[in-house]
Amino acid sequence: MIRYDLVCSCGHDFDSWFRDASAFDKAAAAKAVTCPVCGGGDIRKALMAPSLSTSRKREAAALKVAAPDPRQLAMREMLKQVREHVEANADYVGNRFAEEARKIHYEEVEPRGIYGEASPEDARALIDEGIEFHPLPALPEEGN
Ligand SMILES: [Zn+2]
Repeated sequence: MIRYDLVCSCGHDFDSWFRDASAFDKAAAAKAVTCPVCGGGDIRKALMAPSLSTSRKREAAALKVAAPDPRQLAMREMLKQVREHVEANADYVGNRFAEEARKIHYEEVEPRGIYGEASPEDARALIDEGIEFHPLPALPEEGN
């Protein structure tokens, strides 16, 4: 059996199994192979390049559902360290983040590191005012 990547005249790609190469040629010549999307009978073998990109896409999709790999664990550890550093060196100001960030920016108070929560509206307003801040990385939920 041979699997061919096929494409119809409208560009739908699909694959199909044939007993051998000549079985495909005969079926295609007799218009016995039809596109599962549009039912068209004008079918030819797809070029190698599109079939390669299709399999790469499948690989990428498979990677997304795979278990965490060591690189993801390392990234997670790094994010955790960033968080811990911020938490150890900055004042938690809760939902007064935007207010406190403004005070620091306009030098109404001594400059200090702060962290807390800002609504998307607050964050946008801060950006508009040219106040620099960095989103704290959110950690994915712990496993247990
Ligand atoms: Zn088609």
